[in-house]
Parts: sequence; structure tokens; C-alpha cells
Amino acid sequence: MKIWFYNAKVLQNSKIIQGDVLVQDNKIIYIGKNPPEFKADRKINVMGNLLMSGFVNAHAHTPSTILRGYADDLSLHNWLDKIIPLERSLNDEEIYWSVMLGVLEYVKAGITCVEENYAKYLPIMEAYKKSGMRARMSIGYPNVNQLKVDKLSSQNEKIKEYGFKAVCFAHSIYGTTQNQLDDLISFSKSENLPLSIHLSETLKEVGDCTVKYDKTPVEYLEYLGFLDRPCTIYHCVHTDKDDLKILADYNANIVTCSSSNLKLASGIAPLYAMQTAGLNIALGTDGAYSNNSYDFFKEMFLSATLNKALLYNAEILKAEEVLNMSTINGAKTLGYENLGDIQEGYLADIILINLNQPHHMPQFNLISNLVYSAKSSDVYFTMIDGKIVYENGSFNIGEKIEDIYSNCEKIKNRLK
Ligand SMILES: [Zn+2]
Repeated sequence: MKIWFYNAKVLQNSKIIQGDVLVQDNKIIYIGKNPPEFKADRKINVMGNLLMSGFVNAHAHTPSTILRGYADDLSLHNWLDKIIPLERSLNDEEIYWSVMLGVLEYVKAGITCVEENYAKYLPIMEAYKKSGMRARMSIGYPNVNQLKVDKLSSQNEKIKEYGFKAVCFAHSIYGTTQNQLDDLISFSKSENLPLSIHLSETLKEVGDCTVKYDKTPVEYLEYLGFLDRPCTIYHCVHTDKDDLKILADYNANIVTCSSSNLKLASGIAPLYAMQTAGLNIALGTDGAYSNNSYDFFKEMFLSATLNKALLYNAEILKAEEVLNMSTINGAKTLGYENLGDIQEGYLADIILINLNQPHHMPQFNLISNLVYSAKSSDVYFTMIDGKIVYENGSFNIGEKIEDIYSNCEKIKNRLK
């Protein structure tokens, strides 16, 4: 397909430019005011609205969408006790519909790429393949409930077969054995794959690890050789300067999940200290059972403001920096060099944002408006890999919205 966007404000490399954007198949091939000869299959008048890269959700457990609202107002460890038996009971078909519900919410909110950290990867890949969602899938030990998982090599083969990127994922230090962690590190080396893990999410986790190993969770990962590999670390709420220096020395990527950390009362991640240490920071929603929504505007607002309030300093974590965390930094975290911005040759993951609304006026600074006043309902068009998946209330994700709702209702009735 050849798509021609015209009359757009284009967000490119943190600047707003006026112009047209041409997409051919799954790539952006031109941005500017004087497009070359181009026989478009469709011309889209953006009507002065904003065209930008889709959001990269760098940490999620999308099958958990079906458990939204099931176990609220609990601490992380009490919450896990309540969630785990239900999670374990979900069959493949239920996971498929739950992920489809997540996809509806993702594309409606402008999220075009997801880091998926969950066991039972087959029905997830079925849903992502059918809907066209871009994702990096997990190989390894993604669950604290010790579900039996396939051999790492067969997980890897299946993910390759479906054509997704992969990451070797351990749920956490407390949710995996040392043998499993060693095993995963060796596999990541032999297959040249990156690693990822939830880390230092709660004070309890840090305390337990320090008592057991006489090391902070970050020091323990360094000791195991986990950080020698390219890696992504989720949360890092309770990390001190020494921890952050270690992570920066190894060029680890950090994914912060501000609303999940607030709702589970885990704490506030030291984003400013991470940034000062030179770490690449991306944003994640975590699962709908802990967040409870997939809304990157909420994540951006919280990630920009929590450290300001914590450190009594309004001048840190500027809107532009946090906006980059939601797009280009996330793409980098997931190993993409040509995603997360509107550039010629980049993958065509594009969203359109309706600026013709009171909360976008006046437009002194569109980037500030995006981080501090925009809402996910402002997204009215979403394209992934050159395919239009959402437009003005209509979805094109391979399943009908009413089928997704009715199947999810059935699952909810079985679970309650
Ligand atoms: Zn998580």
C-alpha cells in the first residue's frame, strides 16, 4: 500500500515541521514540502493535526488484561498471591481473547509496539500476528508461579517461526532459581539474544536479596554475569547511586512503570538520577492487573512530574525528554534502529493526534501539550508496519470488537 499524508504537523526528532509524509509498504519514504511523483492508494488529509511515531510500550503482560480490576488496593506481594492462581488457570483461548482486548486498547491509545513478558507465548503470538501488533516476545522463565515452560530452544524456534523479535526474560530474582538464571544467561550468549528482568521493584525484594546474597539486586545480577549481556531492567524503583553506576557501566536499558509503581505502592523510581547516570530510560505500562490501563499519556505525565515533586525541582525531566522515553528510547530498548521517530527509511508506525480540542489550545508548545495535557482519546488514527489498524473508532485487527467483548465477558464469568 502507498499512503500519502498531507497537511500535517510532523513530530520529527523532537521538532515540529509542516509537511507531507509518504509511506510505501511498511516504510516511511519521504517527509517534506515537495513530495516526488507518487501514485498513492490513499491520500489522508491530516487537517493540521499532529503526525508522530507510535508509542513503544517497553514492558507489559498483556494476557493480564482480563484481570483488570480483579485485585486492586493490595500490596505487590499480597496482590501476587491473589493473581497467580487465576493467571495459572487461563487456557490458550482465554489468553488469545484477553490479548485481543489489550490490542484494542493499545491501538486506540496509539501504542504500536509492545515488549511482551509472559509465559504461554503461543496464543499471544497468534493474537499479535492476526492484529498486526509489533512485539518483542519473551523466552525463558516469565512467571513466578513456576508453570512448566518449554525448553528455551523450542521457545526460541517458535518465536522465530512467527517472525517476532525475542528477549530472554527472567521474571525476577525471587521468582527464578539461580540455576534458571545461569541457564538463561548461557542461552542468551549462545543465541546472541538480550536479557531482561523485573528488578528492585519493592523494598522487600531489595531487603530479601541483601540478606540472602549480601548484595543488592543490581550487584547480584552483576555477580551472575547477567549485566554482561545487552539487557533491559524493569522498574528499578529502589536503586541507589552505586546501583545506577553499575547499570550505566554496562549500558543497561531501564523501563520505568510509573503508574504501576504508584498503585502497588512500590515507590517512585529515581528517574532523574538514572538520567544523570546516562542510562537509556523507556516507559512501560506493566499489566492491566496492576496499572490498570494502557495509557501512555498517563505514563508520560507521571514520569515527568513524580521526580519533580520528589526533588522539589520543576526544571528536571523536561517534556521533550519524557516524550522521547515513550518513543525512540523504547525502540532502542527493544533493539530497533529504525523505529520510534518519523524519519525516511524508518518503519511506518504512525499515529495521528487530534489537536482541534480545548486542551490543546493555545499551541505555544505542542510537545508540552502532549506530555502535560493530551489524553489517549486524542489519538484518532494508528498505523503499524504500514497497515492502518485503527481509524476514527473503527478497528482493523482481525477480530470484531463485539466478539472480543463477548468472549472476554465469558472468561470473566468463569473466573469470578
Ligand atoms: Zn511486570
